[in-house]
Amino acid sequence: MTPRFAVIGNPIAHSKSPVIHAAFAAQLGLTIQYDRVLAPPGAFAATAEGLRAEGVVGANVTLPFKLDAFRYADTLSVAARQAEAANTLCFGKDGVAGHNTDGIGLLRDIQDNHAYPLRGKRVLVVGAGGAARGAIGPLLEAGPSYLAISNRTPEKAADIARHFASVGKVEALAAAALAGNAFDVVINATSASLGDPLPPVTADVFGKDALAYDMVYGKGVTPFLELARQSGARISDGLGMLIEQAAEGFWLWHGVRPQTAPVLAAMRTGLPDA
Ligand code: NAP
Repeated sequence: MTPRFAVIGNPIAHSKSPVIHAAFAAQLGLTIQYDRVLAPPGAFAATAEGLRAEGVVGANVTLPFKLDAFRYADTLSVAARQAEAANTLCFGKDGVAGHNTDGIGLLRDIQDNHAYPLRGKRVLVVGAGGAARGAIGPLLEAGPSYLAISNRTPEKAADIARHFASVGKVEALAAAALAGNAFDVVINATSASLGDPLPPVTADVFGKDALAYDMVYGKGVTPFLELARQSGARISDGLGMLIEQAAEGFWLWHGVRPQTAPVLAAMRTGLPDA
C-alpha cells in the first residue's frame, strides 16, 4: 500500500511541501502519496484525527496550526517542546509524535548551504512569532557569541528571552538599541516581507561580511534584503530553510536523508533571485 502523507494548513493551496516531498521520494525510488489538506479554523485536531484514521503516516503542519499541533501531539521532541510549536507529526500505533524541524532547517541552510558557521558569531533575530520561537533553541545550540531578539511588539521578544533562559542567553533588544549595534548574521523572522514593508531594522545592524537571511521565499529581493545588500551584506531568502526542514521531516518519516541541493536548485528555477 502506498504510504500517505499530508500538509495541513489554512490556506494551503500555495504549499510547496507536496512538490518537495515528491522530489525527495523520486530521488530515493520511493512511492508516496502526499496531499494538501485544508483544515477549517478551530478544527485542526479533528482534521488530523481524520487523516490518522484513514491511515496517513505523517503530516506537516503550517500556519496557523503549529501551536494546535504542539497541543495535539502525545509526545514531543526537544525542539517542539522548546518552540511550543510542531510542524511535523508522526502517526504511530502508540500515539502521535510532534517535532519542530524549522530551526534545524534554518541552521542547515545557513551553516551547510551557505557555509556560514554560527559558532562565535553575533546573531540577531528580528521577529518574535512562531518561526522565531522555532529558531532560537537550535541557534543557541550552534554556539553564537551573542544572540539577540528584537520585535515590533517588544513584550513578545522579552517573553521569548525569558522562555529560553534555561537553554541559553538570548537578549531582548528594543528597536532603539539596534542603532550602532552590528551583527554577523541578521535573520528576518517577521512576516513583514510578505506585505513588503521593512521590519524595524536600520543599516547599522549589518556588520562587516554579515549574512542577512529573510525566512520569506518566493518574493525576490525583499526590502530587508535590499537594505542588507546596499550595506554590503550577503543575502539569502528562506527557500533553503523550507527544503532543509522538509528533509528533516522526510528523515523522521522514512529513515533516509534525501539530497537537498538538487531539489533546491530545481525549485530556485522560476523563482525570483534572492
Ligand atoms: P507569526 O507567528 O505570525 O509572527 C509574525 C512576526 O512578524 C511577529 O513577530 C510580528 O510582530 C512580525 N511582523 C509582522 N508584520 C510586521 C511588520 N510590518 N513590521 C514588523 N514586524 C512585523 O509568523 P511566523 O510563523 O513566525 O512566520 C514569520 C515568517 O517566517 C513568515 O513570513 C513565514 O512565511 C516565514 N517562515 C518561513 C519558513 C521557511 O521554511 N522558510 C518557515 C516558517 C516561517 P508583532 O509581534 O509585533 O505582531
